Amino acid sequence: MRKPFIAGNWKMNMGLKETASFFKELTALQANASGKVDAVICPPTVSLNAACSNSPASLRVKLGAQNVHYEDNGAYTGEVSTTMLKEVECEFAIVGHSERRQFFGETDAVINRKVIKCLADGIIPIVCVGELLDERKEGVHFDVVKLQVSDVLKDLTAQQVSGLVIAYEPVWAIGTGETASPEQAQEMHAFIRKELVGLFGDKTAGQIRLLYGGSMKPSNAEELLKKEDVDGGLIGGASLSPDSFTELITIAETISA
Ligand code: PEP
Repeated sequence: MRKPFIAGNWKMNMGLKETASFFKELTALQANASGKVDAVICPPTVSLNAACSNSPASLRVKLGAQNVHYEDNGAYTGEVSTTMLKEVECEFAIVGHSERRQFFGETDAVINRKVIKCLADGIIPIVCVGELLDERKEGVHFDVVKLQVSDVLKDLTAQQVSGLVIAYEPVWAIGTGETASPEQAQEMHAFIRKELVGLFGDKTAGQIRLLYGGSMKPSNAEELLKKEDVDGGLIGGASLSPDSFTELITIAETISA
């Protein structure tokens, strides 16, 4: 049984004050959380410290970064290392988000280096894959995602990848209000799981959590999360409010009970 996973991607939202008040409110809302769901918030890099210092030990919500570099240090203006992330208690990092691919030119080869670095340094990557609208219209979405999965996980062993998290995010559903249907999400998740079986074997493929991302919110989460291979969500807009983030955790908890 895979533990449900709810991750919030704040993108370029929420400065220091907003982050501090979000975590204070979240701490109150999560006072009786069961811990049956892995819940993670990924603030902008500059707000990670505020998130860290406003997360009491009792808060079961963990921290993730939105990006990470594959080198330890050096002349990489604007980048952040795994060591720096660990200093602010980051346990996760989103790697290869479609916005990083689209606006910052990240390729599968770069994403692969980041995944390898995270795993070597004890940060769990939340690796994003997903097709563009045109690719779905052309009917090549399975080919696109298959290639992304094998390229971003290249040169890794079953043991290395068993703890990682993959987010299937159809690009046409991110921030658009348009969600993949539960059937479309399940179909692609089952396909990814089958690819993982081929690459790493049954046991490991059965351990990797597959998140759906793309306009997930409290009103549509239940039907998505009920699907067999949808183990959680990567959530943008609906993670910006402590209330809706808490609602999403509660929905995931109820389904897994
Ligand atoms: C995302 O940021 O990965 C995302 C899925 O955003 P949204 O939920 O706003 O579509």
